[in-house]
Amino acid sequence: MSEDCIFCQIVAGDIPSRTVYEDNAVLAFLDANPLAPGHTLVIPKAHHERLNDTPADVASEVLSTVHELVPAVEDAVDAPATTVAFNNGEEAGQEVPHVHAHIVPRFAEDGGRPIHALVTDRPDLSDDELDAIEGDIAAGLE
Ligand code: AMP
Ligand code: ZN
Repeated sequence: MSEDCIFCQIVAGDIPSRTVYEDNAVLAFLDANPLAPGHTLVIPKAHHERLNDTPADVASEVLSTVHELVPAVEDAVDAPATTVAFNNGEEAGQEVPHVHAHIVPRFAEDGGRPIHALVTDRPDLSDDELDAIEGDIAAGLE
């Protein structure tokens, strides 16, 4: 637990939450400032700041919970779709430094945008640059 982390305080029961799912490793609760009815957050109970810091088994438990929750959330609020996202790091908009998945119900005409609307300054990458990036990412897995 990280003492000054809001989500750790929720896990500890020191801050109330509308919990929709809980097991040994994962907690899911309604977002306090929802983008849509049913906006749900899924977190590991252990404090890990970003996906990068999260052990693989814990990340798997979080994703498995997201996978189970998506249809339940959609059914609960009669949503035809959801946007599922991690703001992974401050520059990506992460405000609470305890890794979490957002499940945001989506509706026709909800004023929301697709993930391609996140960035307006898109890079124009040459084939050589794409080759280099492809190689660097693959090498980073070794
Ligand atoms: P992010 O910007 O990805 O870090 O998202 C953090 C989310 O946590 C925001 O959507 C907030 O509305 C939500 N949030 C912050 N404090 C609480 C809280 N006490 N209970 C539930 N959700 C919270
Ligand atoms: Zn935490």
